[in-house]
Amino acid sequence: MNKRDYYEVLGVRRDASLEEIKKAYRKLALKYHPDRNPGNKEAEEKFKELAEAYSVLSDPEKRARYDRFGHAGISSAAGAGYAGFDPFSTFEDLLSEFFGFGDIFGTTTRRRSRVRQGADLRYDLELTLEEAAQGVEKTIVIPRLERCPTCRGAGTAPGTRVSVCTTCHGTGQMRYQQGFFTVSRTCSHCHGTGTLIKTPCPECRGQGRVEREKTLEVRIPPGVDTGARLRIQGEGEAGTGGGPPGDLYIVIHVREHDVFQRQGADLYCTVPITFSQAALGAELKIPTLLGDEEILRIPPGTQSGSVFRLRGKGMPKLGKASFGDLYVNVKVVTPTRLTREQRRLLEELARLEGQSDAGDDGKSVFEKMKDIFTGQ
Ligand SMILES: [Zn+2]
Ligand SMILES: [Zn+2]
Repeated sequence: MNKRDYYEVLGVRRDASLEEIKKAYRKLALKYHPDRNPGNKEAEEKFKELAEAYSVLSDPEKRARYDRFGHAGISSAAGAGYAGFDPFSTFEDLLSEFFGFGDIFGTTTRRRSRVRQGADLRYDLELTLEEAAQGVEKTIVIPRLERCPTCRGAGTAPGTRVSVCTTCHGTGQMRYQQGFFTVSRTCSHCHGTGTLIKTPCPECRGQGRVEREKTLEVRIPPGVDTGARLRIQGEGEAGTGGGPPGDLYIVIHVREHDVFQRQGADLYCTVPITFSQAALGAELKIPTLLGDEEILRIPPGTQSGSVFRLRGKGMPKLGKASFGDLYVNVKVVTPTRLTREQRRLLEELARLEGQSDAGDDGKSVFEKMKDIFTGQ
């Protein structure tokens, strides 16, 4: 059968906003809803068509696929068409979904659907800073509920079917007379589904889902940081009653590094230098996160605590081809053990400093202390 264009079905333009799509669907769905057109096959078909068009166009991902590939883009994807979207949700459900009020007609039957989307799952993944910088493939094992392979999720033993609940006669509701009012409550026998499983599947005991450990290979892109969430579509828990599975979210935690601290895409490290390197200037070999060394030239007269930037030697930026910077904080380390020769030279230096001090500009100690802060 040739399918009609979804936009045509809803009577909206191709650039219609989500709000316009909702509005159009609401109007048409109320018109063609089976509760309003009992026994009308044509209305039922129209309603199904509408539900399918709406389920695609109201989902930005599916809509984008449809726009690019047409119907082919939708039916090839897992959980094709309107799986998980129950086109026969009651008229009342439809009203409450759109208008936000519930039981407006005490007479409407409200049957709970067995069709439910599976829950989303969360997996916390710890990475080293190196792994976060390079990107990595990880094998993870997640315990989850999967669709029972024996009954294919139906919950019934092979060769048997669900039967209509005899307590509520399939309505999912029990009614009680209370004074002037009729009160309805969810049928406790079938939990509102209106159906019962008489012969449960032996493998899942009628649940339609079984607990399994699933091994997945996940690709972590370079540049992720703590708190990043990667969504893996359809790898969450199995749905019930043929509903679609939930999604799996991988939440990233990047471990602290011994040498490098990270701020966004920039890295920081502290490098010790000697007094003579600081005074005379030097070429320093700086380790980088991914192994190779960089040369950093510091000028003569470098003060302890000065920060130098190595451009582009930080972390990769997530989803981009560029890198952050590496900031090197140099720290002058005072020697604690001196050889006799070193001691002699330092004493000589101290003597020379004392001489130049004497012939100095005659600044007081207090003024010199101020000079340190003002950098003179
Ligand atoms: Zn089963
Ligand atoms: Zn029942």
